[in-house]
Amino acid sequence: MANSKILFVTSEAYPLIKTGGLGDVAGSLPVALKAQRNDVRIIMPAYRDAMRKAEKLGFVSFHMEGVPETVRLLEGRLPGTTVKLLLVDSPAHFDRPGGPYCDPDGRDWADNAERFATFCRVVMAVALNKAQLNWQPDVVHCNDWQSGLVPALLAPHPNRPATIFTIHNLAYHGHFDSSKFQTLNLPHYLWGMQGLEFHSGLSFIKGGLVFADMISTVSPTYAEEIRTPHFGHGLDGLLNHRADRLQGILNGIDYKQWNPANDPHLKHHFDSHKLDGKAKNKTELQKQFGLPQQADTPLLGLVGRLVEQKGIDLVLEIIPQLVELGAQLVVLGTGDKGFQAALEAAATKYPQQIAAHIGFSEALAHQIEAGADMFLMPSRFEPCGLNQIYSLCYGTAPIVRHTGGLADTVIDACDENIAQGKASGFQFEHASAIELLQACKRAISIYRQQPKTWKKIITTGMKQDFSWKQSAKHYLKLYQTAQQLSGKQ
Ligand code: ADP
Repeated sequence: MANSKILFVTSEAYPLIKTGGLGDVAGSLPVALKAQRNDVRIIMPAYRDAMRKAEKLGFVSFHMEGVPETVRLLEGRLPGTTVKLLLVDSPAHFDRPGGPYCDPDGRDWADNAERFATFCRVVMAVALNKAQLNWQPDVVHCNDWQSGLVPALLAPHPNRPATIFTIHNLAYHGHFDSSKFQTLNLPHYLWGMQGLEFHSGLSFIKGGLVFADMISTVSPTYAEEIRTPHFGHGLDGLLNHRADRLQGILNGIDYKQWNPANDPHLKHHFDSHKLDGKAKNKTELQKQFGLPQQADTPLLGLVGRLVEQKGIDLVLEIIPQLVELGAQLVVLGTGDKGFQAALEAAATKYPQQIAAHIGFSEALAHQIEAGADMFLMPSRFEPCGLNQIYSLCYGTAPIVRHTGGLADTVIDACDENIAQGKASGFQFEHASAIELLQACKRAISIYRQQPKTWKKIITTGMKQDFSWKQSAKHYLKLYQTAQQLSGKQ
């Protein structure tokens, strides 16, 4: 399908604002779709921080149907790309310090329901060509709960575009008290179990799951997992009901941002044929984190949100054993205050081997990917996961749990896969500290005792193609299916 008009709806997009994988996807998939000759526009809230980074913004709309007069629409480009960007400027909701979802103390904004309902109403006006843009998309691609009301609000409109809803993480529902349903002045037909009601509350994500023409999630394995009670967060029944509309499409990565051969965050560049730059980055990383600069010491890295989902508790549990094994560990992340404190305490207790940086740093994330030998990702669930893919590209063997996108991207270094030259990392089955430790031991043992095999494992990962090209084609097919189905639900 070429020359489609696509409205890509997102609550974050790199490089304007990013808290996790959705930001990376929104900063790169639209670019790949545009490269395949489609007319793509990203629409996102005009957060204060994003406004500062956006270039050449101009007001394009002052009156949008169903939207208060105080809300305006700005147009510009996603920095570093030619993709058009629409920013929903509602100062009362988005012009404030702090993150897109949380205040500076890490608490959810109390008015998140109002903030994202306003965002969704503007998206609806654009989708129905009622925002003075003289442009109507063929497809509206929504992402996560913040855009969940869009498919629901659009559903009854006869001339609406097709709707897609992508689940980047089913754990986040956008769940609010039922009273918000009235406050937000949502149409009556949307209440009830067949609508936005979930356990007597209001669920934004249900808007996407119930009403979108097609649903996708970010890896084939996660698409299967979320249909089971263990991974379904109470929505597995609904997802099974809509199973014929659900697909898994693996995320790609943006090689302009993540390529060890020319990454601007690195002092030394390298590729699968010339790995000496990687060793130099390791020394830099050790220096930066105040660890002894030992080339032969296995250095493990971890970057991510410090939450239970990511198995941080499992990592904390095995720190004494990693220390005993003579390994080093560097961690970069923010999240749960308890995990942050425990990691800092471990770094104080083992200053020669453990180091933690609590915070968000794009540069440091790249430097850890480049300098570490192994990357820990023992997630309890992982819709796709990008860090293990970055690790594969940067010659840093991922040690991952066999779940979601981790299962789809990392090939375990068992004897058979090593013999066939397919192995690219280390997997373990259950979310247990013992299994994680065993996987680390396997990795460390090969790293120390079989350098040739180690090199083969990391270069196998580095040579894989994770570009968006293929995935963008899958999305275009999905859009086509959604267009065929729209209006015929
Ligand atoms: P999730 O979306 O669940 O957070 P992903 O692995 O899909 O996990 O994506 C996480 C993205 O956020 C990656 O690009 C990762 O490098 C980045 N990231 C997470 N935490 C930090 C941090 N503290 N500093 C810099 N980048 C981070």
